[in-house]
Amino acid sequence: MAGPKENVLMEKIVSLCKRRGFIFQSSEIYGGINGFWDYGPLGAELKRNVKELWWNTMTRQRDDIAGLEATIIMHPQIWKASGHVDTFSDPMIDCKTCKGRFRADQTNEIPCPQKPSKMVSECHGEKTAPRAFNLMFQTYVGPVRDESAIAYLRPETAQAIFAQFKNVLETSRQKVPFGIAQVGKAFRNEVTPRNYTFRSREFEQMELEFFIKPDEVVEAICGRVATAAEISKPESEQRAASVSLADPSSISSAGKMPAARSDWGWEAWHKYWVEERIKFYEGIGLPRTTLEEYWQKPEELAHYARACVDILFKFPFGTQELEGIAARSDFDLSQHERFSGKPMGVFDEELRTAWGKLPKEKSDALWRRYYENRKKYLAKMGVAEEPASKDATEDANGLAKGQYIPHVIEPSAGVDRLILALITNAYSEVTETDDKGRSETRVILKFHPRVAPVKAGVMPLLKNKPELVKKAIEVRDRLRPWMNVFYDDAGSIGRRYARQDEAGTPFCVTIDFDTLGEKPELKDTVTVRFRDDGRQERIAISELLNWLLPKVR
Ligand code: ATP
Repeated sequence: MAGPKENVLMEKIVSLCKRRGFIFQSSEIYGGINGFWDYGPLGAELKRNVKELWWNTMTRQRDDIAGLEATIIMHPQIWKASGHVDTFSDPMIDCKTCKGRFRADQTNEIPCPQKPSKMVSECHGEKTAPRAFNLMFQTYVGPVRDESAIAYLRPETAQAIFAQFKNVLETSRQKVPFGIAQVGKAFRNEVTPRNYTFRSREFEQMELEFFIKPDEVVEAICGRVATAAEISKPESEQRAASVSLADPSSISSAGKMPAARSDWGWEAWHKYWVEERIKFYEGIGLPRTTLEEYWQKPEELAHYARACVDILFKFPFGTQELEGIAARSDFDLSQHERFSGKPMGVFDEELRTAWGKLPKEKSDALWRRYYENRKKYLAKMGVAEEPASKDATEDANGLAKGQYIPHVIEPSAGVDRLILALITNAYSEVTETDDKGRSETRVILKFHPRVAPVKAGVMPLLKNKPELVKKAIEVRDRLRPWMNVFYDDAGSIGRRYARQDEAGTPFCVTIDFDTLGEKPELKDTVTVRFRDDGRQERIAISELLNWLLPKVR
């Protein structure tokens, strides 16, 4: 529960975000629209940086993940197959007195003093019974507004990945294990949007579906399945000791997981992705101490999930989910296979060869396990005993031919929640007292340079000295093709530094008379000021770009 101090902090953050152009209320001039937020100039840059870092980490820096950019509106059958049409709902209740509408699982309900069998909200009004409220936004495709034209704004980006699984597999020439990554908008008609951007109705997700071999296949090929405990931990000792913001190269080398092994089953891959994702957060400035892993209890898991870890962040309003990493079995591809009638399995030559060499006892045991899993899934989906046995038998017989439906590990992160976490984490205040004894408190956003909206402020010491201005513009133009820089010549240098501190700019570059050669040995050097401690360093203009680049990327 957030206390008054945390609420004050949240208020300060919301007001700073508006004042400095990070986040605005959507449609503000019309009174706003609940659950929708716009990102202003600094927010748009911050968001772009975060998405790009995720994309680069997930796709360009790896051989085993390919990207996708799918449409927001897709065939409505996709949402039937995924279960969203039937079950993607929250329990909603209305308060008959205050007319408030709540998520039944989110109010502080108490039994009605008059009628204890009834729940009442804090206002003590009587509440309606909970009813399921589907969170998908519905629309119509084409000119006719009838049942057949109903479509949905996607409530998650993941389903497009499953629907395009075969196309990506074939065109990217990947082999299982491999992943498909996507960043994009998602829409949920949340009953009660709250906590600023944390729970919005329109938001962005960064999702990876990482397809892996079922454990029976791993065992057939490797003779064993590595346990999660065997995956040596990317030791926090290693990481905590070695990550330094001043040396970004330490971030990529810290906490390295061992190279993936062919005997990894779903548990090992799941653990691997939990570690990779935490490493990502650390690499953009969220220390491990601000994060928590919450391993869902068996009774909390979706029926198809083998495990799910929520990565939580300590927001001022409570410790809440930033990302979920779920081991989703082969549920999604299986559903799309049944609903579309198109095969979603893969052929694996290694499996076919290995299967032929297995002792009968072993192949029988693996066959049986695979069969049982397939049958359990079909039964849960309401398929009758007889067809379920027949289909499961066919699926298990596929193993000998090298065929199976991949399982999947899904790290699913929200961009907007991450932006809010980064702003919250970066927020700090300093109080300074001038020589006349007047003190002033100002804000510094201590963003990691990799996510900072502006990487460098470029400033001539004085605005009215054309030589200084000319040189400063030269420096700005030298840096601009490589990073977002902000040229500022308005006001005292102290004020300009303070403005950049508040925007989270990690470095300010000042062009002064020494740059022009007043002290000949300092000619063509600039002062670089560090945001977090005000430290200054003199750097040659010719060196500046190379000095900055590894720090901000
Ligand atoms: P919650 O329990 O908080 O509603 P969820 O478990 O439904 O979240 P997922 O369906 O797993 O969320 O979505 C993956 C990620 O998408 C979440 O971890 C979160 O970062 C983001 N996300 C989900 N719903 C919202 C929302 N309404 N506003 C902003 N981000 C969201």
